[in-house]
Formats: sequence, C-alpha cells, structure tokens
Amino acid sequence: MSATTHPHLSAPASTWLDRARQVTPGGVHSPVRAFAAMQCDPIAIVSAEGARLTDSEGREYIDYIGAWGPALLGHAHPAVEEAVVAAARRGLVFGLASPPEIELAERIVARVPGCQMIRFVVTGTEATMSAVRVGRAATGRRVIVKFAGAYHGHADMFLVSAGSGAATFGTPDSPGVTPGAVQDTAIARFNDLESVDRCFQDADGGVAAVIVEPVVGNMGCVPPEPGFLEGLRDRCTRAGAILIFDEVMSGFRVSRGGAAARYGVTPDMVTLGKIAGGGVPLAAFGGQWELMKLVAPAGPVYQAGTYAAHPLAVAAGLATLDAIDATPDLYDTLEHRGARLAQGLRAEAEAAGVPVSIQRVGSMWTVFFSARPIRSWDDAAAVDREAFARFFRAMLARGILLPPSAFESAFISAAHDDAVIDQTIQAAHAAFVEARA
Ligand SMILES: *Cc1c(COP(=O)(O)O)cnc(C)c1O
Repeated sequence: MSATTHPHLSAPASTWLDRARQVTPGGVHSPVRAFAAMQCDPIAIVSAEGARLTDSEGREYIDYIGAWGPALLGHAHPAVEEAVVAAARRGLVFGLASPPEIELAERIVARVPGCQMIRFVVTGTEATMSAVRVGRAATGRRVIVKFAGAYHGHADMFLVSAGSGAATFGTPDSPGVTPGAVQDTAIARFNDLESVDRCFQDADGGVAAVIVEPVVGNMGCVPPEPGFLEGLRDRCTRAGAILIFDEVMSGFRVSRGGAAARYGVTPDMVTLGKIAGGGVPLAAFGGQWELMKLVAPAGPVYQAGTYAAHPLAVAAGLATLDAIDATPDLYDTLEHRGARLAQGLRAEAEAAGVPVSIQRVGSMWTVFFSARPIRSWDDAAAVDREAFARFFRAMLARGILLPPSAFESAFISAAHDDAVIDQTIQAAHAAFVEARA
C-alpha cells in the first residue's frame, strides 16, 4: 500500500452510519467506535488481516486499535481461524462441560501468577464484577478501592469518578447508577501510595479489595512506577484485603504471564479477557485456591453463564496460546518493534516542535500530547485533546488507524513488521505538523 492520502475526510458521510443511527444509539455498539471526540465520521470494517483493516468503502488502514487488545497475533491468524472453524463443525455450544476448556484452564493457571483456579466468563465486565464479589465474600467487607481513570468494565460499582476535595469516595459517573451502587467504591490515584493509604484509613469496616490495572491501558498507557505494585501488595497483605490485578488488557500482552509475571508481583486474584479468547468472546477470573473455592458450586458465591467457556472461544484461546508458545521470541520482538516505533514517533514529534510524552510497555503505547509524563489520571486529564484529535485525523487520512481517543492504549501485533512501522513513522512526519495547527 502506498502512502497516498485517503479520501476519508472529504468523502460524503457513508450511508451505513445514517442507517445505523436509526436502530442503534449513536450508530455503534460501544461508544468509542463513534469517533465522537475525534470530530470525524467513524469507519465500519468489513475485513481484517495481519496488521491491516479494510473498511466498507474499500479503504485499507494499518491498525493500531487491535480490536482494543485481543489482536496480539495480528488479525485473521490462520491457525486460530482453523481452530475456530474446526470447533464450529463439532457443534457451536453445549451448555455443559467440555474437555478443551480444562486444557485452557490448566495452561492459563500454569502461566499466570496468583491464579491457581480459574472460572471462564464471556466479558471482562463480568470477570471484574465476579472477582470483586469473591473479594467481598472472602473478607466480609464492602469497600473496594479503584484508581481514577482506570476502567474495569461497565458494572455500576465501577462507574464512579473521584469526588471533590479530600473525599476519597466517588460519585456516580453515569445517569442510572445510584449513589448506593458506588458508595462502597473508594477512588485512589494511580502511582500514589499515599492516596491508597487514605482510602484504607477512611474505609468503613476495612477494605475488601483493591482492583488495579497493573499497567493502565484505559487512560492511555501508564506504567506502574517502581515500588507501586509492591506497595499495593504490602498494604493488601497487611490489611487482609484482596489484591485484584485486572489484566483483561495486560494479560498475555505485556508478557506471556501478563503484568504480574513482568513485574514480579503476585496478586490474590486476576481477571483476564481480550487476548484470552484469541478474538472470540472469552474472559476469566481466577485466584488463589482458598478464594476460588468460594465460587459456586464449590462454594456459596453465586456466579454463572450460559455462554461461559464457549467452545469457539476456548478453541481460539488454545490456538492463540499455541501460537504464542511456538514463537519463543514473540515478546522480545514486540518489545523491539515497540521501541522502534516509539523512537521514530518521538523524533518526528520533536522535528515538528510538538511536545509529546510517548509511553510504552512492550506492545502497548500511547502518544500523549503533553510535555510532562503521565503518571495518573490527573496528568492524563490535562493533555491537549484537540491536538490529539488533529493528529488522529491526519494519521487516518494517511491510512494509519489509531485508537479514536486520547485516553486509549494503542497496540502493535506480531504482524506489525518493520515495513509497517516505517510507514507509520513516515505518516507521522506530516501528521505531527498538522497536529500543531
Ligand atoms: C476491556 C477491559 C475491561 C472490560 O472488558 P469487556 O470485555 O469490554 O467487558 C475490563 N478491564 C480492563 C482493564 C479492560 O481493558
């Protein structure tokens, strides 16, 4: 594909969007797909292969959304596709136990620290809801601590924003969420252990669980500072609280055992999703044996699902782990290519005189339009969103698709080779100049 300009921004609004808006709120099935903050029309995808997507107008893009995380191996990986097709031929869903799910559970348990038993669910939202339920049941306490700007799915108790002033308890972040639903959710600041201490002090009846994205992806890529995850581990151990690593994004992404393995900190519970299903809906929560044995039917904590451990997702998950294991240098390669991309983008931003902070952990990365590094949501909230939107549009016009939000991590996949990365850096040369305007 050449670096020619796409006609996207000047093309008439596609008819799919008008149609979709008649039958679906905003025309999309998840808000960020509407590109609203980017001030341009969204695109609709008809096919994907490797590092590339093709939209309904026949335009091709180099994709850095990666389906919001699952596409570690690149799109339409042949072995994963074959596994899904083979599973489909054996029957789509049984609603009963099936041997391949045992193997997937064994293989995840073998590689994810803190995970001695696992329960499969369908979405990350279910996984985090369920992990918190177990944490509350295990401790007999109500209060959970989450971090401002982190995302753990859309369960009511997580849809909370930091309260004003000294208050650590939040207020509902969405109409339809009652104050009661969030009254037991305390908000701390990522990379700030003192704010965590305040939550522990203020928690009526003690803290049941701390839930954290060990590498934040949902305010853009924000790595944990040295000592931060260890500090959470210490505090939870001392207070008898359950430490939950929400690795729905970072699991199998930042290392073969996720962030817990990469940083050497072992949580009490882990949530997984995205890559775990290899592109088919599958998520999981897991943890120490004493916690997981509380889950029904082994124990009294209720949790269930019609499509849980769906055979197609289990097949795709197994094939994905096979492909990961068949490529021992996969994570090193992603690290090198990620570093090369970040370096190239940094140089182009500098040449254009645009202050940016490019943050990366392995194949997760974000261009923040901020001269300062982003350590927490306070920093992220202060980035130049308009400059990001201009940069996004300028890249899109050159066939490079970034996440349509200043606060979402971008991803490279195993299919993002040096040529793809060079083409991206080349496009960024002019895009940073346009972002400045
Ligand atoms: C995506 C995500 C979720 C929610 O997963 P869904 O499958 O979209 O419900 C939860 N936590 C984190 C860290 C995520 O990135």
